[in-house]
Amino acid sequence: MIVYNLGCTNEHRFEGWFASAEEFERQTSAKQLSCPLCGSDRVSRLPHAPHVSTGSAERNGEGAGQPSKGVPRQYANLGAELLAHLIDKVVETTVDVGRAFPEEARKIHYKEAPERHIRGSASAKEVDALRDEGIEVVALPIPPHRLSRTH
Ligand SMILES: [Zn+2]
Repeated sequence: MIVYNLGCTNEHRFEGWFASAEEFERQTSAKQLSCPLCGSDRVSRLPHAPHVSTGSAERNGEGAGQPSKGVPRQYANLGAELLAHLIDKVVETTVDVGRAFPEEARKIHYKEAPERHIRGSASAKEVDALRDEGIEVVALPIPPHRLSRTH
């Protein structure tokens, strides 16, 4: 299971989730990928995103229920089962920093903290701010009960 940061020719950024790198290549060459913002099918891969925002703060905080232009999502290419596998993978391979997520992501970006993959919660506004600084963040809808798993 792979998450790629993707971008279109209009410089929109979004994420695409794929069962494998081969699946990504296949969908790309078949022009099955399109930008969720403008519909362009000229989509290419951007550097991999190390940080995962679970978006859980977003649900409680301001702006809940409003569409957020900063965190476009493309989940349509994944079924529920694949999504569950992806979430397992993320929980296994990242360190949970909770609400310290924006701060930790910044520290790692500016090399004030050791390079590692982290996950945690951030509001849509915080995710936007991180992206403005060039910090790659993947927004992932991880259900709260999955986050409590320590392994
Ligand atoms: Zn676009």
